[in-house]
Amino acid sequence: MKRELIGVKIRQVAEDSPEVVDSKRKVKAQFASDVGSNRILGEHTIVQIDKLRDELKRKQSGDPGAVSSEDDIRERIQIQEGIFPDYRGMFARLARSDNPQHTAMMATLHQEFLDSSFAAKYSSEMQNYFSVTGDSVVGFSKEMPTQLVEVLFRAHIERYRQMEREFHERVALYKREFIDTVKEDIADGFVSMSEDLLERRVSDIDIEFNDTFQNYKGVYGQHAEHIIKVTPGMEGALERHIVFHELTHAISGTSFMHVTSEFSEKIRNTEEIHIAKAGLRFRTRRGKVFSFLNEAVTECLAALWSGIPADEMLYAVERQALSVLLEKGVARKSILDAYFENPEIDRSGKHPALRMPKTVALMREIRQNGGPGLLLNLERIFQE
Ligand SMILES: [Zn+2]
Repeated sequence: MKRELIGVKIRQVAEDSPEVVDSKRKVKAQFASDVGSNRILGEHTIVQIDKLRDELKRKQSGDPGAVSSEDDIRERIQIQEGIFPDYRGMFARLARSDNPQHTAMMATLHQEFLDSSFAAKYSSEMQNYFSVTGDSVVGFSKEMPTQLVEVLFRAHIERYRQMEREFHERVALYKREFIDTVKEDIADGFVSMSEDLLERRVSDIDIEFNDTFQNYKGVYGQHAEHIIKVTPGMEGALERHIVFHELTHAISGTSFMHVTSEFSEKIRNTEEIHIAKAGLRFRTRRGKVFSFLNEAVTECLAALWSGIPADEMLYAVERQALSVLLEKGVARKSILDAYFENPEIDRSGKHPALRMPKTVALMREIRQNGGPGLLLNLERIFQE
């Protein structure tokens, strides 16, 4: 029987509504769970193997609580260990900086993975299993033992946890500095939001450290679903700027919608929380629009607050599109007011224009100054 969507109910929900709070809790719990997220390469496997080996020891020492048979436990250990051979090639390749087949990702991983302490310990041993002939022929000279793969996984996990601890110490500082800087701009009217809301949104957001092995995107930071994820290995000033950029997203004007989808079979009704407005990005029936404008404004604010030099700023093309609006005479103040506007929640079906008047005023100003369709024409450039 075909499952058909028969109804969708959408309603606005407040930032502090039980629906949004619950959705945030779920996202954070999912991320925190080692087993669910597998966020460090090899961690899930190593955790399982340690548990099973422990169980085997208890069984062998006659613990009456250990129910499975020894053979059964050994078989489960073998299944987990089965992933090790898949990683032999990757580790061997990583060890060689002269590997002509290094992609951008491999080059990054090589740099990160084989930092001084790690390289000194394992690099020469890893190199034994990988050879480069001339400047293009690469091959495996002999197979890396799976015990070495396990050792490398464990070393990586331990090293990542150490880097993560240091990262969290820096993040606490970045958050404090960010709040203090933005407060100055609230005080002189440049940013229209309450100090209270600023503090709440910044403290509410979790900032986590990515394992590049698990989540390589070639980008530095990402703000999605109540968690900011940051890539390791950046210079201090850039890392601080990236965190500021993501925090700027987090404090921009936001609204949430609760979407219930009902299916014909009644097997399952799905409930989801979506972000309807994030700064100047909006969710419409045709998807998310004006991301380019949102990124441009976010990056300009973040650079202003982090103090990063102009030539190190990101989102160059997006910022050019923003310049077009400013050159046409759209006021900076109108853009910022719309960016920070939190639409009012209204159950009586008030027209959106009344719920976010500053955003509507900005759209009108862009139309009047740049002619009809300017924003959509710019949008089209970024969609190609
Ligand atoms: Zn961004």
